[in-house]
Amino acid sequence: ITRPYVVGNWKMNGTRSMLAEARAIDRAAERLIKVEVALAPPATLVHACRKEATLIGIGAQDCHPADGGAHTGDISAAMLKDAGAGFIIVGHSERRADHGESDALVKRKAEAALAAGMTVIVCVGETAAERDAGKAQAIVSKQLEGSLPASDSPAEQITVAYEPVWAIGTGNTATPADVGAMHGHIRAELERIYGEGGAQVRILYGGSVKPDNAAELLAVENVGGALVGGASLTAESFLGIIVAAA
Ligand code: 13P
Repeated sequence: ITRPYVVGNWKMNGTRSMLAEARAIDRAAERLIKVEVALAPPATLVHACRKEATLIGIGAQDCHPADGGAHTGDISAAMLKDAGAGFIIVGHSERRADHGESDALVKRKAEAALAAGMTVIVCVGETAAERDAGKAQAIVSKQLEGSLPASDSPAEQITVAYEPVWAIGTGNTATPADVGAMHGHIRAELERIYGEGGAQVRILYGGSVKPDNAAELLAVENVGGALVGGASLTAESFLGIIVAAA
């Protein structure tokens, strides 16, 4: 049985003044070895966070699919690894929405992260309209099919994050029953795609995870951890979630 994996996604938040939070999270993680803790700061802070933190994982929130070249403003997986990133989040709903990222592009990014020797967190999740129309599982299946790295990829390097779009930053979490149903569905899809390896892939829940609801959500079958946005921005609230996961 693998440890719960709790990942903080700082999104477009954080200047060097926030390195103290990363340091505090890292110090506390020493006492919380039952949980695998990681932080994805903005790319500008990856290197500084890696130097500040000795125990927790440090990763990035996106990468370009190519190794390098004429792509102004973009950052390759190898560059992020060189800066100290050990994993990359790809396909977050905010990138799918803000930058029109397709499943095919997300897949290329995920494969680039693996090729650079990093692990990858592939995000999926339906909108409120899709859930109301009874299409949540079908949408997530389509996203998994299109965005996950090829079926011969090392499944142990892959994590999936289920983040219903309507739960992100809203304070509305999915119910444990809905989370259980969706994570069971994702597990079946992972086993179909990766065979036995699919049983090992951790499936994180994301969307308004807070210290007071984390224990309940993390207790659900097939929930291997949490991807945390707002509540990861201070060491105090993020540690509340990590303690709940332990
Ligand atoms: P919140 O925890 O702020 O809802 O964000 C979730 C998320 O999108 C993490 O990637």
